[in-house]
Formats: sequence, C-alpha cells, structure tokens
Amino acid sequence: MCRRSSMKIAKCAAVLLSLGYTLNVVACTQQGARNLVGIAMPTKSSERWIKDGATMRELLENKGYQVDLQYGEDDIPTQKSQIENMITKGARVLVIAPIDASTLSSTLDNAAAAGVKVISYDRLLINTDAVSFYATFDNRKVGQLQAESLLEGLRQLRGEGPYNIELFAGSPDDTNSFYFYSGAMDVLQPLIDDQIIRIPSGQTAQAQIGTLRWDGAVAQARMDAILAANYSAGAVLDGVLSPYDGISRGIISALKAFGYQPGQNLPVVTGQDAESSSIKLIIRGEQYSTILKDTRELAAVAASMVDAVLKDTQPEINDTTTYHNNVKVVPSYLLEPYTVTRENYQELVIDSGYLEPRDIQ
Ligand code: BGC
Repeated sequence: MCRRSSMKIAKCAAVLLSLGYTLNVVACTQQGARNLVGIAMPTKSSERWIKDGATMRELLENKGYQVDLQYGEDDIPTQKSQIENMITKGARVLVIAPIDASTLSSTLDNAAAAGVKVISYDRLLINTDAVSFYATFDNRKVGQLQAESLLEGLRQLRGEGPYNIELFAGSPDDTNSFYFYSGAMDVLQPLIDDQIIRIPSGQTAQAQIGTLRWDGAVAQARMDAILAANYSAGAVLDGVLSPYDGISRGIISALKAFGYQPGQNLPVVTGQDAESSSIKLIIRGEQYSTILKDTRELAAVAASMVDAVLKDTQPEINDTTTYHNNVKVVPSYLLEPYTVTRENYQELVIDSGYLEPRDIQ
C-alpha cells in the first residue's frame, strides 16, 4: 500500500515536473515573444542595409529586446514569408524596409490582426492602414541635394552651360524613388524650361528612367543604349542625375566604355549612400558626389520608436503631413541628408566614423 502510494507520488511528481517544464517552456516562449522585434531588410547587396540591420540589432539588444533580423535579398515572396514567420514567432513589433512598397498589405493585415505594430523603415509602406510610424530621411531634400550638386559639378567642370544631361531614377516600386526624383526636379525643371539644361534622349518620365531593384547593371545597360543612340554623332554628355551609388557605378562604367576619360571629359555623376566604393571614385574624381544618410541616426530613431510602441508611449515625430501612403498620412521622423564631395568626404564620412579609413583604401 505504502509502496503503491509512494509509486503514485513519484509518478505524480514526474507528471507535475513535466507539466511544470511544459508550462515553463510556454512561459519562456511568451516571455521571449513579448520581447521579440522583427526587422525585415531588403537586401545585403548594398552596404547601407547591412549597416542599418547591424545597428538596429545592437541598439535593440542593448535595450533588452530579442531581435529577428532578416534580409529578403530583393525577392518579394521571400520578404513576405520572412515577415509572416516573424508574426508566427510572436514578434510584438515589426520594422520593415520593404522591397516592394505595396505588396505587403495582406501580410500587414495579419500583423494588425495579431496586435503586432509596424514601423516603416526608410521606405514607406503603402496601401495599408497597418503602419504606425515611419522613420526616414527628408527624401525630397535628398533629390534636391542631388540636383544641386549636379549643377555645382557642371559649373565647376563644364563652365556656364547649356548642358546635356541624362536622368536616372530608382526602383519604381520604392516610393523613395518618387520623392528623390521630384526633389531633383524642383531644382532642374526651371533650368530645363530655360533650355540651360537639355536632355538629348528625351527620357524624363519615371516609367522611362526608373531602375528596377536599384540594379547597377540595369542602369549600365540603359546608359549604354542612351549613349549609342544620342551621343555617337558629336553631342557631348555633361552630367547624369543618379539616385544611388550602385547605379552611379554602372553609369560610370558605361561612360568609360563609351570613351569618356576620368580627369578629362567624364560627365558629372551624382549618387547616394556614401558607399565605400563610391567614396573611392569620388576621391579619384570619377563620381562627383554622393549623399550621406547616416544610418546610425536612422537606426537610433527607429529603435526608440520600437521602445515607445512597446512601452505604450508616443515616439518623437517631426512630420505629420508629407508621407501619405494612399490610406493615411503616416506620422514620421525625418532626418537630415548631406551632400558629400571630394572636398568634405574626410570630415563627413571618415571623421564622423561612418566609414573607417581602411574601407576606402
Ligand atoms: C534608399 C536609398 C538606397 C536605395 C537603394 C532607397 O529606398 O532610401 O538610401 O540607395 O533604396 O537601396
């Protein structure tokens, strides 16, 4: 009897133990999920996103959160399933830099239904109500700075004009492309109207000048075609509006292959992101400028948005009018972009610690 009851007790203890274990595991998972932040970045093929992801992870882990950081490698279905996975794992907040701004609506509806808050990172999520805040740079200003530095380079290297230029825009499925281009046109359109700037290819519509997935090879092929069709009979190209360093490098390769020589007649080419390979080209006088958007600042803004959302407080916002995503104006925090040239790269990019001296050797 006694033996039996002690066996029963032992069995019962084992059951309780295993039950306790199960409960503990559930509790641990929920505890983990309570702290889980999902970060969906578009690609590792560009330096900036690697930095964005790494800084976000560090900042959030330092604040005590668990981080699930994923890169979609510019493949829309991959990014979609990465985000769905984050929701399944119980992420409380998602920070998303979309590959295609409009294709995540149903995924974001699922997030909203599960009570998951969404922060749009650098690129605006459109056609959805399920986005709470937007952390980005002043994107229109990026375009204005690009066009201003194009003009400054043209005046410096080509004199008073008129100038022949060609226009490139970013990926048509990234809303930033439109802000960059309209910012650039704020500056260029009056000069186009006054015929101080000419565009020999005649290609000015976004549909003609867009570069799918911001792909340098796509831009290079388009530059090759424009040069062959419009600059083979003596016309000289003076400048190219390029929205991103990877695109600029493709353009510069096409220009050199066509016969333009660095240090002699290479057109003025702009850029964006202060990528190390482009800073090297700027030092060598092959690319005229780039735009520094300090991703450390952007990550800090986004991380404090995450913190505020999870603590049920209001994050700092400095723009409530600009970013309408077709459903609502998304409350935003906009950071300052800076133009980088050969004159100031040391101070802006190296002394600031954005890049290491070894990155540009
Ligand atoms: C970002 C740029 C970047 C581009 C290509 C844009 O959405 O704002 O900084 O150059 O994507 O990755």
